[in-house]
Amino acid sequence: MKQSVAALQPGSYYIALEEQYGAHNYHPLPVVLERGEGVYLWDTDGKRYFDFLSGYSAVNQGHCHPRIIDALTVQARTLTLTSRAFYNDKLGLFEKAITSLFGYDKVLPMNTGVEAVETAIKLARRWGYQVKGIPDGEARIIVCAHNFHGRTSTVISFSSDPGAYKQFGPYMPGFVSIPYNDLDALEAALEDPTVAGFLVEPIQGEAGVSVPDDGYLRGAKACCEKARVLFMADEIQTGLGRTGRMLACDHEGVHPDILILGKALSGGVLPVSAVLASNEIMMTIGPGEHGSTYGGNPLACVVAVAALDVIEEERLTENAAEMGELFRELIRRIGSPVIHLIRGKGLLNAILIDHPDKNAAWNLCMELMRNGLLAKPTHGDKIRLAPPLVINKSQLEEAVEVIRESLRVFA
Ligand code: PLP
Repeated sequence: MKQSVAALQPGSYYIALEEQYGAHNYHPLPVVLERGEGVYLWDTDGKRYFDFLSGYSAVNQGHCHPRIIDALTVQARTLTLTSRAFYNDKLGLFEKAITSLFGYDKVLPMNTGVEAVETAIKLARRWGYQVKGIPDGEARIIVCAHNFHGRTSTVISFSSDPGAYKQFGPYMPGFVSIPYNDLDALEAALEDPTVAGFLVEPIQGEAGVSVPDDGYLRGAKACCEKARVLFMADEIQTGLGRTGRMLACDHEGVHPDILILGKALSGGVLPVSAVLASNEIMMTIGPGEHGSTYGGNPLACVVAVAALDVIEEERLTENAAEMGELFRELIRRIGSPVIHLIRGKGLLNAILIDHPDKNAAWNLCMELMRNGLLAKPTHGDKIRLAPPLVINKSQLEEAVEVIRESLRVFA
């Protein structure tokens, strides 16, 4: 095997290694990347691509942002991990910065996005028992159909995607699923006095950038307040400038009771996630009741502070709003019959492909790749288009030309 894979092209060699030695839990496009800078990625043959996935919106600040990498390397030479058995001189600074930025009393740092979602669920349940007075063991969380909150066994228990949950049971009880973007369904579900929280994505990213009606988030927050239920926003994908506001909830002036962040909190450098809440909620968890070896490590803390600074100082949120408008306009102007719809906010967008070939979205992504732009279909007929927020007008126009050119594959 060693000889036969070595004889292949450089890119194919790495693909063969992954195929042979890695679990087959992903289905990547056949491109092998070795370098990134800003909005660009380069493959092992030196070919350059626009990155229109941005590590599923983790790389909002652009690849290898020098300021974030400097913070990382300086801290990596100084101190990386202490565990939470001791204090360190970076965690408190991060906690102060992020709570002040988003207007919360406290933060609980974790690593991956799904760990932050798990943390939020535990917090809501605890609050439900200790503050709301729900009988122990009976707390429920309302979730939305077609959600994506990660891959742990608890979180897939309330997924509506068989690809995520099938044959991974038994499932965690205590979740009630209602249709997304449906305030009547929410109101009805909130009549149950054992409900502690409502967990929602302000825009459903993995579902294909499903944007709810204006007023949905505001209405949902009001319903939750009335029912004394925590409004929990999963802004792991929508947050940190991606939709043209710092948080997607900001579009409707909604301040979630529990805010869940991840992905771009490190600018794509290492896994950093966080849950923010008031003292009333956060102080229901005491020492030894929740945590993670790596959560709040000094390396992650300095990276996260730098990642947040970059978003603010480089006005990436404003750029996302402006470039997003332009992008949707330019795509509409292409006027391709294959693009049934473009939808999104800021630089979180998706095109819906209308074509009899059920592989059309995949085929278009292959053609985009050949022409120098990387994107990935989600749920068959949708392609998410979400470049790093550092993209400028001429880069965006060039990328749209690549898309226009690639659509010829259907001619
Ligand atoms: N929540 C949302 C909205 C996401 O988009 C994702 C990842 O795509 C997650 C949670 C899970 O994050 P992670 O893959 O870091 O666990």
